[in-house]
Amino acid sequence: MAMATATHSYGYSQIQPKASQFRVLARQQLHTLTTKHSKFFVSLRATKIASSTATAIEVEGIPSSKSKSLPFRVGHGFDLHRLEPGYPLIIGGINIPHDRGCEAHSDGDVLLHCVVDAILGALSLPDIGQIFPDSDPKWKGAPSSVFVQEAVRLMHDAGYEIGNLDATLILQRPKLSPHKEAIRANLSELIGADLSVINLKAKTHEKVDSLGENRSIAAHTVVLLMKK
Ligand SMILES: [Zn+2]
Repeated sequence: MAMATATHSYGYSQIQPKASQFRVLARQQLHTLTTKHSKFFVSLRATKIASSTATAIEVEGIPSSKSKSLPFRVGHGFDLHRLEPGYPLIIGGINIPHDRGCEAHSDGDVLLHCVVDAILGALSLPDIGQIFPDSDPKWKGAPSSVFVQEAVRLMHDAGYEIGNLDATLILQRPKLSPHKEAIRANLSELIGADLSVINLKAKTHEKVDSLGENRSIAAHTVVLLMKK
């Protein structure tokens, strides 16, 4: 999970409506998510401005992001994990039989992590490492589906839905073809999008570098969000 810190801001002064137009239309706080492994709280406030020119989403402890209301938004996610013996290999929520897996604070699901970053990126929100910091013990061992569900909820609160998603996994072994459809189906269900708009590709790394030597796994995701 990438931990890079970045400043997320939009040229809000250019789109800021008159003060009288400001109106809080939606407010949702202290949302509770319960999973089989953990129960935690995320405080969220979604504020839509009356003129529909901008949406601000505030996540507890994270600077708010005020985004122009666009008909489409594109996001890209990238993630890489080290592969070590003695860990399960979980890709897209599916346990893939292999001689090693990802050592990570959460379940190390490289695909779901970059899907989350793609959705958050499209919304101009901070990245997965900032919203779910690995320094916080409440995320230890958390299934990455929790992060996806939260990103999807933020997307809906901002007034968007998935247009389509295209992901590429890079790994030397094992062969992913026997598991691709299970991963796609699980991803489709997790983000609540039709199977036909979810695409998954897998490539080797030509046996070079850590990816090609079965020492790491990486994934890229591009997602298109459409205004509802
Ligand atoms: Zn990750």
